[in-house]
Amino acid sequence: MKIAVIGAGSMGCMLGGYLQLGGADVTLVVRRKELMDALNEKGLTVRMYEDEDSASSLNIPVKAAVDVKDLGVMDALLVMVKGPDTKAAMDSAKILIGDNTKVVTLQNGIGNVDIIKGYVPEDRIYYGCLNMSATMDSPGTISGGLFGSNNIFIGSVTRGKEQKEFGEGFCELFRKGGITATYTDDIDREVWYKLLMNIAVNASCGLVRLRGGEAGEDPQFMLLAMDMVKEAITVAHAIGIELDLGYFMAEILPTARKSSGKHYPSMAHDMMISKTKTEIDFINGAVERLGASAGVPTPVNTTISRLVRVIENNYQRQYFPKTKGNAPSFTITINEKFCKGCGYCVRYCPKNVIIIEENDKAVVKDLGGCIGCLNCATICPEAAITVSKE
Ligand code: SF4
Ligand code: SF4
Repeated sequence: MKIAVIGAGSMGCMLGGYLQLGGADVTLVVRRKELMDALNEKGLTVRMYEDEDSASSLNIPVKAAVDVKDLGVMDALLVMVKGPDTKAAMDSAKILIGDNTKVVTLQNGIGNVDIIKGYVPEDRIYYGCLNMSATMDSPGTISGGLFGSNNIFIGSVTRGKEQKEFGEGFCELFRKGGITATYTDDIDREVWYKLLMNIAVNASCGLVRLRGGEAGEDPQFMLLAMDMVKEAITVAHAIGIELDLGYFMAEILPTARKSSGKHYPSMAHDMMISKTKTEIDFINGAVERLGASAGVPTPVNTTISRLVRVIENNYQRQYFPKTKGNAPSFTITINEKFCKGCGYCVRYCPKNVIIIEENDKAVVKDLGGCIGCLNCATICPEAAITVSKE
């Protein structure tokens, strides 16, 4: 099966790698030439962590492209861009879509399927959710984690024999590649449980500027998370999707804690560091939108959505520490044991305070330049950096 992964960031690359291992002919469509060159020259390296200390590593030969114009028509597209980019991605991928091309979206949240319906008929659209995490350590090298008893759920918009056959076949490619995947007619239930997980921690971690694990230790944060989750469950019931709060608390939330404990969720990352458009309209905003059309009030999710939109609309005007005048001094501690030399702290420091030494460890080069923006501590995937005010 000829598959193009549209928007192959860390998760898209990892999924494409497993499909390739499972026997598909995969092209990873990436944004940056640097990533394309690394993937084409050295293949994709995936380090899969069983727990904090043990990881298995594999290298998968893959094809990558920035430009899709010479790739030809695909049997399937796997769409993995962020929700706000779906329309633009589908516009640029039109050339890959033929009369029988299927489109699979495993993006976060709810709303992407409606956008994809503008490009292919419903009976060729598949959607689902993931119990996995992926971080790109360096171009072409990914650290991943698998959670729960099943890593990928896939379903289809139209449920017939043909859809089941394709869905099962797509899941089989993943399984042959080495990860668990299930095609199910009950896909909305799985997608909504994943949505609840994102609702509980994603935007709110960005607003309070805490990692998932840190936020989860605060009783006030958990009360807020539960208010959002309960609202979403009420909306789901109103549109015919049965969810159980007890099951969510016992089975899903612990997985959320495990997967996001050490890290800033993606939306927090967008709000604090990359300062880009977030997926709010596909997560809390989807609850707001569906609640409005079902006549269910959603004051908590609506408030959270509005706060995130205010932040998105005003990145350029937000408070940022100044270096002039009586600037405070900061202490930066980098735990050498945890640092794996990915260089994110170097790339995202606006003042060139940090460098990577020859031993592939980050060190502070110019402490005096530090403005305490916290970018380095926030971006570090190993939580190796702390910044404190003297
Ligand atoms: S300190 Fe963190 S972000 Fe910086 S190189 Fe090490 S692991 Fe990467
Ligand atoms: S706190 Fe900001 S300025 Fe200071 S080292 Fe980290 S990224 Fe650079």
